[in-house]
Amino acid sequence: MSSPKPIPSMLPAQAAWIDALAAPVLVVVGERLRYVNAAAVGLLNAGSAGELLGRSVQDFAHPLDAHRVLARLRRAEAGEGVNPPTSVRVFDCKGHELTLVMTSAPVDCDGEHGVLATCLDMTERAAMEQRLRRTDEDFRRIMDTMQDVFYRTDAQGITRYVCPAVKNVLGYSAEEIIGLPAAAFYPDPAERDALVAAIREHGFVRDFPGRMRRKDGVIIDISISTQALRDERGQYAGVEGIWRDISERKAMERELERLATRDHLTGLYGRRRILELLDEELERRRDRRTQSSLAVLLLDLDHFKQINDTHGHAAGDLVLRQFVATVHGSRRGEDQFGRLGGEEFLLMLQGADAGGARHLAERIRQAVEATAFHIHAESSLRLTVSIGCAHALPEDRRSADLLERADRALYEAKRGGRNRVSP
Ligand code: GH3
Ligand code: MG
Ligand code: MG
Repeated sequence: MSSPKPIPSMLPAQAAWIDALAAPVLVVVGERLRYVNAAAVGLLNAGSAGELLGRSVQDFAHPLDAHRVLARLRRAEAGEGVNPPTSVRVFDCKGHELTLVMTSAPVDCDGEHGVLATCLDMTERAAMEQRLRRTDEDFRRIMDTMQDVFYRTDAQGITRYVCPAVKNVLGYSAEEIIGLPAAAFYPDPAERDALVAAIREHGFVRDFPGRMRRKDGVIIDISISTQALRDERGQYAGVEGIWRDISERKAMERELERLATRDHLTGLYGRRRILELLDEELERRRDRRTQSSLAVLLLDLDHFKQINDTHGHAAGDLVLRQFVATVHGSRRGEDQFGRLGGEEFLLMLQGADAGGARHLAERIRQAVEATAFHIHAESSLRLTVSIGCAHALPEDRRSADLLERADRALYEAKRGGRNRVSP
């Protein structure tokens, strides 16, 4: 390294350590550079100090900052004290823009008024701040437009952030929720415990089912995808994720399920479902050592075709609904009731022995016989039902086995003159 250049009005000994300073130091007299240390040469990307000395600060200052730089130089030159740090943009010798934080103070330069300036290179930091600002703006824009709810809680389960979409979904504004325990919005706080336990165990959950209570009290179904947050030491610091309102989807699923298992006209189990229930019960009985009684009643309306033929199909439908209501009034609450098809129904009686089943069948038969079925406001008709009873035997494997015996009994009831229970 060449021997340090003497600094105006400073002893050569001082020049040596100022040149060795890591911070850039410049001396300006009347706008022009009179001295630069090695760090300043490096900062401004110059080949040597000679490339810089004698040049105007206006050659380096950003056009939008030049006016301010000159004003500060004049102030310092006039002996008005130290200029506090300020951010200025300059171009180095290669034309790269730098962001510097500069401070300057008056200095005597061999009898002339000069300014001694030093600076910190903040270019990287300024770029980082801009990137952060952009990321921040992007984040806010996404949060403002998204329909799902993004949220973050701390380790204690307190909501620290929730995006504005929460207003549309829960009815509360984000401000009303932030600072409150997330569990406060669950109909049952234990449901959130299950969620947090799953997150703690796996680190995340995907499409975890849950429910929340809206401001108007309505409970909604939600689906949550969330991950655990960890602090610098790896400790659990809360959760962050997204949940969405899936009430509509759930309602549709429930409706599809109902349509698949329920008979549209009567609301009873459909054929498939009631036979499924019977099969399941038979399977359970096989697994058990002691077997409680199980009976079925097969009900078929008498001469029902005539009702359709005489009064029309719509009247027939009305009668079917009233028939179901009549049976509901007579049966036991625990009995499963289904429509096998047309005007044929099945009642599954758990724990009913032969006497009990026949007794119930007789009660239903009498109730139907005694009922006036309304088909118009002013007209009603009478109807009877035939019922076949059957009992589950230990060797019954499928619902069809039991149903076959009930069908034979029903046939006997019809053959015997209808409006009767068989056997
Ligand atoms: P039986 O005493 O021998 O049982 O005489 P039935 O007239 O009831 O004879 P069957 O069981 O063969 O006839 C059933 C009739 O039920 C035929 C059909 O027109 C009618 N039916 C089946 N499903 C429906 C329905 O959903 N609505 C209406 N209105 N009628 C139905
Ligand atoms: Mg019939
Ligand atoms: Mg029939």
